[in-house]
Amino acid sequence: MTSDDPHTAVLRSRVAGLMVQAERDLAQLVSYKSVADPRQFPAEECERAAQWVADAFAAVGLTRVGLHETADGSKAVIASRPAPPGAPTVLLYCHYDVQPPLDEAAWRTPVWELTEKDGRWYGRGAADCKGNIVMHLTALRAIRSELPVGVTLVAEGSEEQGTGGLEKFVVDNPELLRADAILIGDCGNFAGGVPTFTETLRGNVNVLVTVETLAGPLHSGMFGGAAPDALAALIHVLATLRDADGNTTVAGLDNRQTWDGVQYDPDRFRIDAGVLGGVDLAGDGTVAEMLWARPTLTVLAIDAPRVVGSSAAIQPAARARLNLRIPPGIAPKEAHRALVAHLEANTPLHAKLTIELEGLGAPFRSAIGGPARAAMDAALAASYGRPSTTQGQGGSIPLCNVFADTYPDAEIMLIGVEEPKCLIHAPNESVDPSEIQHMALAEALFLTTYRR
Ligand SMILES: [Zn+2]
Repeated sequence: MTSDDPHTAVLRSRVAGLMVQAERDLAQLVSYKSVADPRQFPAEECERAAQWVADAFAAVGLTRVGLHETADGSKAVIASRPAPPGAPTVLLYCHYDVQPPLDEAAWRTPVWELTEKDGRWYGRGAADCKGNIVMHLTALRAIRSELPVGVTLVAEGSEEQGTGGLEKFVVDNPELLRADAILIGDCGNFAGGVPTFTETLRGNVNVLVTVETLAGPLHSGMFGGAAPDALAALIHVLATLRDADGNTTVAGLDNRQTWDGVQYDPDRFRIDAGVLGGVDLAGDGTVAEMLWARPTLTVLAIDAPRVVGSSAAIQPAARARLNLRIPPGIAPKEAHRALVAHLEANTPLHAKLTIELEGLGAPFRSAIGGPARAAMDAALAASYGRPSTTQGQGGSIPLCNVFADTYPDAEIMLIGVEEPKCLIHAPNESVDPSEIQHMALAEALFLTTYRR
């Protein structure tokens, strides 16, 4: 490791000394069954988790601490310490609710009891997102009373439910969370030990496509040949959405974009995705380009007769649900228009085509080139002893767009302790304590060096 400057050395040794407490805190947090669905777990579990978070951040010097009810009934914990004159304010985001355990029998350690095994800490929420709560907490503890910036902590209570409680709350209460820099602590490094910004999130366009050709089903022997077959027409138009190499080919959407951040090794991707031996990966770009930089059309479902019980009949109608993921640079409305035009242009036989829009989500790209990003970049490099890189994320975090729209001047950065081995959302979720340690140090360095 390159030698630390004195400031880094002090914080590094403080964070190291705080790891026993970090484990204790995480054990306490994991013990709350804070699944934000009262049909599955009592609401008191979430309330106790929220109260613990509020008390913990009050104890590290945040003053204005409150539990705020949001539109979906969940409570957001907000705690803040105003900025000294002239200094910027940083918003620290995390969530205290967790995914349900899923198949409890598949867990090798108790779901709600933080358990050390082979150097990792296991338990539901250990990484997503309670590990990031502990990251924020440990960073503030390490700084002690020497915090030179304003800090606002927001811990959301229903992130995993996707019910958008905090999204509406931000729009309705913009002043409470206003900040110059926003740290979304709900992501993680590309791999343990590789400091990584999650730079982009894909947006999406979801549509239902129905093709109709006949008044009713017909005998395929008597009518097959001349009768227009709705299922064949649907298969034909869907097939035009990808080429033989697996590239998405929606007319009018750029499918040649490149990715200049971290590259995803194809062999590792094959293992991560469980691709069968002898089967090719899709697309002619790199894995990172296919995942993060280019549009991807997935046929989610097709309504057609089931094989068992089917008869020799031509189908009068067929339906499919489509999911188009779009990278930054493509607006959702523009993607929707292109998809509709493509489907209309490629549906054969002038079959009757109906396209219903189910949902639109905007892609996201974090700001680069600002002072907060530069400070965090340096902080990550100092903490890990190697330069940071960037990755994308295929899914979306709608709250990021709400923050970007509400605070257009804020620098938003996505970081955290959730590297791929954490298996977030799956049984046997775990966190690597050294990621908590390195990320807490990076955050402490950031908070003590960032100037507007
Ligand atoms: Zn999360």
